[in-house]
Amino acid sequence: MTRAAIGIGGSLGDRAGVVRAAIAALGELPQTRLLAASTLHETAPVGGVARNRFINACAVLETELPPRELLAALQKLETQFGREPAPRWADRTLDLDLLLYDDLVLNDPLCTVPHPELHRRAFVLAPLAEIAPDWLHPVLRRTVADLAREVEF
Ligand code: AMP
Repeated sequence: MTRAAIGIGGSLGDRAGVVRAAIAALGELPQTRLLAASTLHETAPVGGVARNRFINACAVLETELPPRELLAALQKLETQFGREPAPRWADRTLDLDLLLYDDLVLNDPLCTVPHPELHRRAFVLAPLAEIAPDWLHPVLRRTVADLAREVEF
C-alpha cells in the first residue's frame, strides 16, 4: 500500500466549503482511497502577495497512482475548482500540494517529493501532524510531529 500526504489550501470564495469538497474529491480519485483528513486551520497568508487568510488542511491517501500521475490529478482538481493561473503565493481558490509519497525522494522540479517547503510551513505541518505524526521525512529523517514542534508559528 502506498500512502501519499496532500496539503490543501484556499483563500478565495467559500474557503471551508472548497477545502471540504476538495478532501471529498481526493477520495474519489481513481485507484485512491481517503485514509484520513485533518481539521481545517485558518492561517495568515505568507510570502507577502496574498491578502486573504487561508483555510488549510491535510489529507492522507492510499493510492496506486504513481507520484507524477497523482500530482497531475491534483492539478486537474485545482482547475476544476476554478483556480486561475496566478503568481506564486497569490490568493487562490484551491492549492493542492503533494507533500509526501511513502518514503520516496524525487528531485524533479515538476514533481519534487518531499515537497521542498514542507518542513518550513507551519500551516502544513500543524494539520499534517494531526493525522500523520509519525511519518518520517525521508530526507531530514525527522517525524512530522518533530518538524511541527520546531517550526515557527
Ligand atoms: P503551486 O501551484 O504554487 O503550488 O506550484 C505548482 C508548481 O510546482 C507546478 O509547476 C508543479 O509542477 C510544481 N511542483 C513540484 N513539486 C510539487 C509538489 N510536490 N506538489 C505540488 N507542486 C509541485
